[in-house]
Amino acid sequence: MSETEANALARVRAEIAQACREAGRDPAGVTLVAVSKTFDAPAIEPVIRAGQRVFGENRVQEAKGKWPALKARYPDLALHLVGSLQSNKAKEAVALFDAIHSLDRPSLADALAKEIDRQNRRPLLFVEVNTGSEPQKAGVLPEEADAFIARCRESRGLSVAGLMCIPPLDEAPAPHFALTAEIARRNGLSLLSMGMSADFAVAIAFGATHVRVGTAIFGTRPKPRASGEQ
Ligand SMILES: *Cc1c(COP(=O)(O)O)cnc(C)c1O
Repeated sequence: MSETEANALARVRAEIAQACREAGRDPAGVTLVAVSKTFDAPAIEPVIRAGQRVFGENRVQEAKGKWPALKARYPDLALHLVGSLQSNKAKEAVALFDAIHSLDRPSLADALAKEIDRQNRRPLLFVEVNTGSEPQKAGVLPEEADAFIARCRESRGLSVAGLMCIPPLDEAPAPHFALTAEIARRNGLSLLSMGMSADFAVAIAFGATHVRVGTAIFGTRPKPRASGEQ
């Protein structure tokens, strides 16, 4: 079991290195975020022991249950929130996470700004862009992204580090990665959180600095609960 996860991690790392070679990029410029949502500590630990240090979760509550104990044992772990964040969980999120990939509305920007000041912790912030303009999906619309980023910076004093996108399931991801990279470029943002198990190599070709990979490392997730998976 543990050997499988460590092997899967090595394979993903090799594929990232290969994608970087093909894109003429330095692999040091791509951070692998191992998305461990739904997996418990015994499944995660072999991946930590194999050298992985950056992990992603999509629910604050779930992360609170499993990561404090792991962080106590492995102090150099970094934890990224990749799923949607409710404003009333901003306090817990700022306390627990080193990066938040889902900043997508003014009320959340306010809540995060308040907690960042209060706790004096500065998680890396990514603005999520709904590049496919999908009604059911989180993220700011592409045409609203510039104004939202400016608003975060000016009125909330937030330091936005980059953009995040999740392309529509049924479309080729490349145009969505290209659009995200273009919005980042014109707003002077250097980080791009894009690419999942199925498309991280494509995302790297379009400049991804953070790839969020779950299934390719941990295997297929159990079915989402009735409350719905993000
Ligand atoms: C679950 C999740 C991932 C990982 O997806 P895989 O296809 O399992 O690699 C990446 N990003 C977000 C936002 C997720 O919720």
